[in-house]
Amino acid sequence: MTRFVFITGGVVSSLGKGIASAALGALLLARGYKVRLRKLDPYLNVDPGTMSPTQHGEVFVTDDGAETDLDLGHYERFTGVHATQRDNTTTGRIYADVIAKERAGGFLGATVQVIPHITDAIKDVVKRDTDGYDFILVEIGGTVGDIESLPFLEAIRQLGNELGPDQSMFVHLTLVPYIPSAKELKTKPTQHSVKELLNVGIQANMLLCRCDREIPEAERRKIASFCNVRPEAVIPALDVAPIYAVPIAYHEQGMDREVLRHFRLPFDREPDLTRWRNIVAAMTAAEGEVHIAIVGKYTNLLDSYKSLAEALTHGGIANKVNVKLDWVDSEIFEKPDAVQRLEAVHGILVPGGFGERGTEGKIAAVRFARERKVPFFGICFGMQMAVIEAARNLGGMPEASSSEFGPCDSPVVGLMTEWSVGNTVVKREAGGDLGGTMRLGAYTAVLSEGSLVRSIYDGAPSIEERHRHRYEVNVNYRGRLEATGMRFSGMSPDGELPEIVELPNHPWFVGVQYHPELKSKPFDPHPLFKDFIAAAVRQARLV
Ligand code: GLN
Repeated sequence: MTRFVFITGGVVSSLGKGIASAALGALLLARGYKVRLRKLDPYLNVDPGTMSPTQHGEVFVTDDGAETDLDLGHYERFTGVHATQRDNTTTGRIYADVIAKERAGGFLGATVQVIPHITDAIKDVVKRDTDGYDFILVEIGGTVGDIESLPFLEAIRQLGNELGPDQSMFVHLTLVPYIPSAKELKTKPTQHSVKELLNVGIQANMLLCRCDREIPEAERRKIASFCNVRPEAVIPALDVAPIYAVPIAYHEQGMDREVLRHFRLPFDREPDLTRWRNIVAAMTAAEGEVHIAIVGKYTNLLDSYKSLAEALTHGGIANKVNVKLDWVDSEIFEKPDAVQRLEAVHGILVPGGFGERGTEGKIAAVRFARERKVPFFGICFGMQMAVIEAARNLGGMPEASSSEFGPCDSPVVGLMTEWSVGNTVVKREAGGDLGGTMRLGAYTAVLSEGSLVRSIYDGAPSIEERHRHRYEVNVNYRGRLEATGMRFSGMSPDGELPEIVELPNHPWFVGVQYHPELKSKPFDPHPLFKDFIAAAVRQARLV
């Protein structure tokens, strides 16, 4: 039997609902259950692909090419279960599908309405592809009380009614603030938020109370009685660091036990949390630190690079060092001599990005890394910048640039107009739709023998990694770029799309067209991040 746990949030946003959902997934998995997580997002964009990462954080890409909410990244990192297209939907997607069906005559004769047509479509999304799973955890984006989340709440209310308590449960995440002037914890916001949920017909079965300190038993009981929840199901969720300690902390507060109790499943045996204890132990025992500069554009909202920051942390776990991240807005390197700031770092990373602003600063950072032999990792846009830098400063093409920024004389990076997916060719034209039209998801790269990346990937002749790009390194310039010493060490199987470049006469200089950070896990650090941090450790002379 598949059971559904619906996770909503109240009081304020940014309480860490995604991590709480992911941690519950990890706990159920550690008890041997088969788990799948999903996210319902109330905004009107069909997917987050067209949004700036400074709005909702990074766009997480799945193997099957969906551009999704960053919480799916948390789900994958905590459970190791790879998400698909079908695990994230938005109001925009639901309406687009319902309206397309209406235009096609699919509701012939009916007045199409939010209830039941939109709510039915949401219920279908929640219930599809659930065979074989013990638990489906469904996180509802936004905060209870928002107008835009109402159809989602109505849909899960109906599902709760249809499935009954044996198959459904509602977990509500709230905030219990401490008021310094009164020296008291306040339960009223939680009471109001639970009432708000009751207004739409949902009685929470468990409360996860975010708080910056212990919640005394008396307060816990007060919350339980006002909110109509068993006292054991009021779970204090205190701030813990690192985030990989969250499953352990929530387990100690009884979260997984109470979920199992709700579903009348046995809970006397302890879950196997060795994996999490090992990660936390490795992080606390880390000795020494390396400093990595991340030279990007969206550095004012660190969620823009969530998976990247996590993958670098995983590289630190693998090397038993602390990784300190220095987020640098690339525009500062457009002033003369500003690159000196990079003197102190042990590795430089230029991440993914879009648009021309800040690119000259990124190119300056690549040049510094290349000339000063500082370990360099270029990801997607970062690889494209590395190629432009080599073309300009080593390849005698001072005009080299990307056609993303307009026409230029030496477009060493150009618009991808066609590529293959299996036996079919996908075509794109300049000026087409921007949503969902990039080269997205898992594609194969063939690795050259004797290359650094091939050894990093343990000698694998080919790899699969996730992509999200519209432009590519122009293969017509391959000869001229190789003459500068740059090696094209990974190519698409048809040899048309450069996937990886490296500089053999440098301690560690790798650019990849894909996003390796999306597949890194704390219990299985990505080999490229592991090796990049190892190079930074050598740079810092820690070994
Ligand atoms: N803007 C570049 C492209 O579309 C790089 C994209 C990225 O870094 N994800 O190809």
